[in-house]
Amino acid sequence: MKSAYLQIIRICNQDCIFCAQPQNWKILSVPEIIKQMIFYKKSSVEKLIITGWEPTLHKDFLKIVWLAQKFWFKIIIQSNWNQFNNIELVKWLSRFKWLEFIISLHSHESVIHDQIKRSPWSFEKTKNGLFYLLDNLQDVSIKIAIAINIYNITSIKDMIESFIQIFPSVTGFVLNNLDVYNIPKDQYHIVADLPQFDDNFRDALDKVIKSGRTLNIERIPLCYLKWFEQYADSLEYILWNDIKYAHYLQEDRKSFFLDRDIRTPETAYGKNCQNCDLKKICWWIPKLGEIYDENDLETQTLTPHAFDIILEKYYSINTSVRPNLW
Ligand code: SF4
Repeated sequence: MKSAYLQIIRICNQDCIFCAQPQNWKILSVPEIIKQMIFYKKSSVEKLIITGWEPTLHKDFLKIVWLAQKFWFKIIIQSNWNQFNNIELVKWLSRFKWLEFIISLHSHESVIHDQIKRSPWSFEKTKNGLFYLLDNLQDVSIKIAIAINIYNITSIKDMIESFIQIFPSVTGFVLNNLDVYNIPKDQYHIVADLPQFDDNFRDALDKVIKSGRTLNIERIPLCYLKWFEQYADSLEYILWNDIKYAHYLQEDRKSFFLDRDIRTPETAYGKNCQNCDLKKICWWIPKLGEIYDENDLETQTLTPHAFDIILEKYYSINTSVRPNLW
């Protein structure tokens, strides 16, 4: 399914420590949004990810969702959902059908979440907002997105257990490693080391699967995803030819395509990758030597058929829950 990412506003009500691109106060106007939607429609895009910095801050946010429905896009809204007390917003959203939300929550402990967001009361606001959404919207899919970093990596398992308990209607989890391409240099130290994606982390993945919820894993090398390779975003990028469009409110990166070509030898591989059996479906290990230690990448020697088994597992995941956020 072709998908596109549409940034409608570059203003945020939070200040995440890992934020890759600062606010620039740009806002996409409704006519510009319509133009972009027409282009996406003509390009056979089916899935539209409405994002921002915080998309709900766009004064025409509801109109934009309405327009996206008129264009028959499958709509995903990426938000921090701090609009916990905006009853009108939720009331309006309840008129739309089949919305999907991806809502960021980076810890089950408010102190840690607020520290990562650099925003007091953020945890409480998002938690209450989520309760309100879940209580008032029907036919809605809500996934919790966790940006993994040194402050939360050791508690991921507890976090998943806790979220499942607090929000039993949440439909899935997105676990994403930080975007080290774009993270500010003075925050490199908050990127989790690869060995921290250990058995405790994989137990957390197991908990998600056993709970019957969807799992999307982003930017984690496959050697750290033993038994869970099929949920990695790299498979989606590499196995499918679909173009991923993106439109950002940033001059040097306004419109671009994300496709297989983004995987280059310089960005993707370390010396241990050269003879690795998973190289064909593994990618995205940038900043080797700068942030990551390339010795931490471990050549995977698969037993006969193990590669086919991974692919078989990937193809057996229902297409609606494959790791294809984009
Ligand atoms: S060694 Fe390299 S190619 Fe192999 S799984 Fe790890 S990161 Fe991927």
